[in-house]
Amino acid sequence: MGSFDTIVIGAGMSGVTAARMLADAGHRVVVLEGRDRIGGRMHTDREAGFPVDRGASWIHGIDGSPLWDLVQALRIPTIEYTVGSFQVGGRPIENFDGDGRPMGSDVTARWIDDVDAVDRLLVDEIAASSPGDTYLDVTERALDRSGLTPERIDDIREFFRHRVEEQCGAWIGDLDAHGLDEDAIDGDEVIFPHGYDEVPRRIGAGLDIRFETTATKIVRSTGGVTVHAGDTAFTADQVVVTVPLGALKAGSIEFEPALPEAVAGPVARLGMGVFNKVFIQFDQRFWNEDSYVLRALGEAGEHWHSWYDVSAVSGLPTLLTFAAGPLGRRMQELPDEEVVADVVRALRALYGDAVGEPRAHWVTHWGDDEFSNGSYSYLALGSTHHDHDDLAGPVDGVLHFAGEATWGDEPATVGAAYYSGRRAAERVLGRTVDLDGFAARIIEREQKEAR
Ligand SMILES: Cc1cc2nc3c(=O)[nH]c(=O)nc-3n(C[C@H](O)[C@H](O)[C@H](O)COP(=O)(O)OP(=O)(O)OC[C@H]3O[C@@H](n4cnc5c(N)ncnc54)[C@H](O)[C@@H]3O)c2cc1C
Repeated sequence: MGSFDTIVIGAGMSGVTAARMLADAGHRVVVLEGRDRIGGRMHTDREAGFPVDRGASWIHGIDGSPLWDLVQALRIPTIEYTVGSFQVGGRPIENFDGDGRPMGSDVTARWIDDVDAVDRLLVDEIAASSPGDTYLDVTERALDRSGLTPERIDDIREFFRHRVEEQCGAWIGDLDAHGLDEDAIDGDEVIFPHGYDEVPRRIGAGLDIRFETTATKIVRSTGGVTVHAGDTAFTADQVVVTVPLGALKAGSIEFEPALPEAVAGPVARLGMGVFNKVFIQFDQRFWNEDSYVLRALGEAGEHWHSWYDVSAVSGLPTLLTFAAGPLGRRMQELPDEEVVADVVRALRALYGDAVGEPRAHWVTHWGDDEFSNGSYSYLALGSTHHDHDDLAGPVDGVLHFAGEATWGDEPATVGAAYYSGRRAAERVLGRTVDLDGFAARIIEREQKEAR
């Protein structure tokens, strides 16, 4: 039992950001975290002697990004890797046609033009859509208007399905027509050769974080809050809840009194997608040295379709592929070895015997992770962009929510977690928090510790 100004639940990016800003302002803050580590869905596995980011990998677009400014200020190394948001061109991609044959440069150029043309039609269809239209509806209308041959339409249809799966972790027919509105990428994308979790770890260093402490019940009144975690109770004036939308949807925390419709509605309406990663490491590279992505279109890529060359992180030939949406859910029920064998089969259909036996693999299971119950939020049919920001509360002036699902501008990202953590801190403090000063104080503290 202890009494604090603010309790923060969750030590992921949003939680440590909010807690650090509040602590910097002189608040007595405690962070309750169910896991035994900082970072939540930013999870760098270093067991093999090099980093493997099992959760987030990319900053999706560094231009005008305050998250990028923070990474720069903290001098965290990055590598340019611009394809994380499922682009069709721009960087070297080894494309294979529906029969698994390498596509020449002419066919590839036509493919890129085809997708660009239908994407332009899609913008109009989305603008003209009605409530109740899914992303599948608007893509079908755009494809109908394209005038392309049935075979070319089939390949683009498959590509759109995969794009929704990778960006949202959802089946295209479950996503609202506006579900990718916030998906614009400004500038290059980057990954983290030393692991993305350096960001939340450095923000969170020195905070009072109680690990393996799972909040189960939050009782609020206008005077304050009590958070129960097993047999322990923590009291404070206010609480910032950053548990993932999947945990809220599963009812893993009981609220007393129950959440009002203004927050319970968005929790029910927004979707929680599943997006799993499969890293496979080989002794020998069988793809071109300078390729960013290997991609199978049409039938050849029905399940496994895109492999990202992340060898630069470990120095060993390594591909990263994703299983998202329905495949992501099915896949996590299978033994990892079976999943890896299936991925290798798909690669051999493209590269033949050049694909050796993998030397190592990593497979994630975010869909049944007890502390996230999914990978990230998406705009399920029946929800609106407002639902994201409405989810933040506050409720009765004492209960705040933060986390990727509460940030409507670019949900499902690390940036969203960062900005929503700042917003929660600002609401608790009743004033703005300057981000340059925030970064400067982290560095100042680190320098003081080092002395
Ligand atoms: C596989 C994968 C790949 C991704 N790739 C990218 C990417 O490349 N780029 C990008 O920008 N974003 C990516 N994302 C999304 C990004 O990781 C998240 O948006 C972001 O990390 C979420 O931060 P958060 O603070 O909102 O939530 P979290 O990081 O989930 O933090 C919430 C914390 O709450 C804790 N918790 C849950 N329940 C309780 C409880 N009852 N009591 C106490 N603690 C609790 C959890 O353990 C967790 O630590 C990816 C996500 C996944 C899963």
